[in-house]
Amino acid sequence: MIIKFTKNVKKSEIKHIENILTNQNFKTTFIEGEIYQLLVVIGDTSQLETKRLTVYDFIEDVINIQKPYKESSIKDKRKVQVGNVTFNDDNIVLIAGPCSIEDEISMDLLVPKLVEHHTHIIRGGAFKPRTSPYSFQGIGQVGLEILNRISKKYKTPVISEITDVRDIDIFVKNVDIIQVGARNMQNYVLLEELGKTDKPILLKRGFVNTIEELLLSAEYILANGNKNVILCERGIRTFENQTRNTLDISAVPVLKKLTNLPVIVDPSHAAGHWEYIESLSLAAIAAGADGLMIEVHENPEFALSDGQQSLKPNNYFTLVEKIKRIAIAIDKKL
Ligand code: PEP
Ligand code: MN
Repeated sequence: MIIKFTKNVKKSEIKHIENILTNQNFKTTFIEGEIYQLLVVIGDTSQLETKRLTVYDFIEDVINIQKPYKESSIKDKRKVQVGNVTFNDDNIVLIAGPCSIEDEISMDLLVPKLVEHHTHIIRGGAFKPRTSPYSFQGIGQVGLEILNRISKKYKTPVISEITDVRDIDIFVKNVDIIQVGARNMQNYVLLEELGKTDKPILLKRGFVNTIEELLLSAEYILANGNKNVILCERGIRTFENQTRNTLDISAVPVLKKLTNLPVIVDPSHAAGHWEYIESLSLAAIAAGADGLMIEVHENPEFALSDGQQSLKPNNYFTLVEKIKRIAIAIDKKL
């Protein structure tokens, strides 16, 4: 951190600040520049409310050099292993399935086809955090148990979204990845408790949250011991209303630069309409995403949630073929 003093700062005032910091075991170096007088502070400042120092009228600014997200900015790339599926820089992981699990019969119809077409992980919501309390809320624990059976039957990992900290045990028991949705990205108690498990966590960006806020949320999980975190960009709220949200495609290279965590994209909740899913998916992979999560439904017209943004299986298979071609072009494995 660097402390920038005002022009008229007194020597005694600088000394006062140096004393405060050295008493807290920080090392300081004073730099008398031609224009500015600076104090460089060395040490882990993550616990310090650094901006508070500007309450002194002789301190003009405090510049933080250290990133507040310590864990995820560690340079060694982390790979996240889910069964035999690896999230890392070399692979493209495809997650697909319905928005909500409706019943076992429809999963039995869809899942084998998805698995046959390069889908690595099956998704399905059991507890649905819907914007309206009157919308379909999911079939709950029964849905997780269906996913568990599907996982064993088709030898494929499964993912589902958690909405309540009290459900952690049934999620740990039934799914391979626990998804934290956009609406719960800042549910810090939930994140901390998930950090005490060793289940891989897919953390989605909230639709009104910055990239830094997403990384700080990831930090709640990582700092509690669980290093298996995958980030997901799923669109943010902007003034544009032709799409459900605006896919922040630049979040992909930015996150890849700032963190060591795998980054995937959910084009379905970003676009909100099936016709745009193909373009956004291809753009995300070309931009460097490590995977995609796409909603697919056998009969979107009858889907209990998000039918309008769900791909029919054939459209999804066509998309997978196109992703394969991009994968070759960017030297990644699908
Ligand atoms: C979902 O994946 O089903 C979902 C609700 O997504 P989000 O949290 O991104 O809205
Ligand atoms: Mn959905």
